[in-house]
Amino acid sequence: MRRKLAAGNWKMNGTGAVLAEIEALARTYPQADVDIVICPPATLIHRAGTAARGSAVTIGGQDCHARASGAHTGDISAEMLRDAGASHVITGHSERREDHGERNETVRGKARAAMQAGLAAIVCMGESLTEREAANTLDIIAGQLSGSVPDMATGENLVIAYEPIWAIGTGLVPSPDQIGEVHGFIRARLERRFGAGVGRSVRLLYGGSVKPDNAAAIFAVPNVDGALVGGASLRAADFSPIIAALGEA
Ligand code: PEP
Repeated sequence: MRRKLAAGNWKMNGTGAVLAEIEALARTYPQADVDIVICPPATLIHRAGTAARGSAVTIGGQDCHARASGAHTGDISAEMLRDAGASHVITGHSERREDHGERNETVRGKARAAMQAGLAAIVCMGESLTEREAANTLDIIAGQLSGSVPDMATGENLVIAYEPIWAIGTGLVPSPDQIGEVHGFIRARLERRFGAGVGRSVRLLYGGSVKPDNAAAIFAVPNVDGALVGGASLRAADFSPIIAALGEA
């Protein structure tokens, strides 16, 4: 039985004032039947952890370096995130793959560093619109899955987020059949690579324009164990109903 997970990616949004949203979420969810993770900008991780203390809300980073320490100006290691209070870190988000030229090998190194530091890595993957229209979606996912996921993955330290690039921040959402096809494919590949035990225990999130009004339909799709949510995670009033829908799925 996989425990459901609602993860919020705040991207490069927010200064201290937005911590009120975490406080509101923490008041709504002192306990929860699902896991809840908010990934604020790195500058807010420590204070976000304080704002969430005593509730079901935990905190994650949005990226980490593949090394534990060293001469990497401006970067943050997984150990540092953990020290700041994070339990999770997103790796390989399409915006990092695009903005910073991160390739599968880089993402794999970051995910491995996260796991070694005791964090769960939320490894993101997804196709572009051109790739989908060329019927290459499953090939792209297969490459990202084998290239970005480290061998040391387990059901505890790995979460996969399927995020079609064309659905992120656009209001466009794949059909339930399209989501189900990719999630089923990922599940089968994980089972083949890691065996049924690990393969069936890794949580698979869908990400891309999840909103309060479409969440229930997405969560009804087989092998969807939760969501990675961008825009609708910025306000507790929007994220709370998504969490509620997940709890009812
Ligand atoms: C994301 O950034 O991972 C994301 C899914 O964004 P949005 O929900 O805004 O589409």
